[in-house]
Amino acid sequence: MGTDNVVFLEVIEWFDETGKELIHRIPEKGSGEIKWGAQFIIRESQAGVLFYKGKACDVFGPGRHTLQTGNIPILTKILAIPWAMTSPLRAEAYIINMKVFPNLKWGTREPVAFKDSELGLIRIRAYGVFNIQVVQPILFINTLVGTMGTFDTGEIEDYLKRVIVSRFNDHLGEHLDSILNLPGTYEDLSAGLQKKLADDLGHFGLALTNLYITSITPPPEVQEAIDDRGRLNVIQDLDRLVKLKAAMAMEKAAENQGEAGAGMGMGMGFMMPAMFADAFRPRTGPSEGAPSQDIRCPDCGLPVSREAKFCPHCGHQQVVFDQCVNCGKNLPPHARFCPRCGHLADEKPAVRTCPHCNAENLPGSSFCNQCGERL
Ligand SMILES: [Zn+2]
Ligand SMILES: [Zn+2]
Ligand SMILES: [Zn+2]
Repeated sequence: MGTDNVVFLEVIEWFDETGKELIHRIPEKGSGEIKWGAQFIIRESQAGVLFYKGKACDVFGPGRHTLQTGNIPILTKILAIPWAMTSPLRAEAYIINMKVFPNLKWGTREPVAFKDSELGLIRIRAYGVFNIQVVQPILFINTLVGTMGTFDTGEIEDYLKRVIVSRFNDHLGEHLDSILNLPGTYEDLSAGLQKKLADDLGHFGLALTNLYITSITPPPEVQEAIDDRGRLNVIQDLDRLVKLKAAMAMEKAAENQGEAGAGMGMGMGFMMPAMFADAFRPRTGPSEGAPSQDIRCPDCGLPVSREAKFCPHCGHQQVVFDQCVNCGKNLPPHARFCPRCGHLADEKPAVRTCPHCNAENLPGSSFCNQCGERL
């Protein structure tokens, strides 16, 4: 370790013994002085990104790379004068774990507000599991890590969970009129949410390979009301009531079982047995999720080879540096404006303040998590 937090780097590599870290910065703090000809060693299912003056210069796939200006074309552009042997380059490196991170749990920390057409404003909890994988390392760093100013896996996961909860809330607001109709629409809701979030997390350079809702739980008053038919004159439809009661009976059973329910750290709520079985069945086949080997062009969706820098079908760059927050177009490295809509390229997505209750919601939210009103 050098003084004033400068680390001299001749060999840059990282091996994650825990298998749980998404991203690692080298050096962990401060900046590094990277020598001309330094070795950047990237293992299988890793990607390395070199950062100079807060900008991503290039991404490196598995292998041993000798760092010289000639093989970092974007860096050469930024530097104007070529990086010489005499002066090390003050920069940072990031190594990203590109494997699938399976069975991460998401859930509402605070119950979210939902405007129910029959029960009025209620607060519900929801839990589920999801799998993610970084597919665009530079986009991932520029959007998520850049926005949050952190590269701590725990904080990134927490943020993703907040995104999921917020989108879940939006999705319910758009596709469910009353929680009383939940039993019949559960599978559609789950599939719809997965699709919506796959799109959304794509803007962070992430593939959402699976997402499940394992439970949606209304507050105890609503559950009690459903138990007590006399008080619940809103439910005229006996069939719906029977289904609801069955779903809640399952929840109680799960609670009583202790281990099975508690082990997952969640109430079972309106858990549907078929959905649940589905969530833990190992997935096969290319139609489910995105296996890492199957690389597709982010623009036209046709398969491309792992090494390709440009798509052979449409010519689109394969490494995505950034996306326009306005129209979602993939931006070329260091663009100042979006070539499609003219929006400023380095603008960050804005938090959405609710006009009804002033609560802050995540960028892109359409329903307020606090009061359930449409934003
Ligand atoms: Zn293409
Ligand atoms: Zn645009
Ligand atoms: Zn609000």
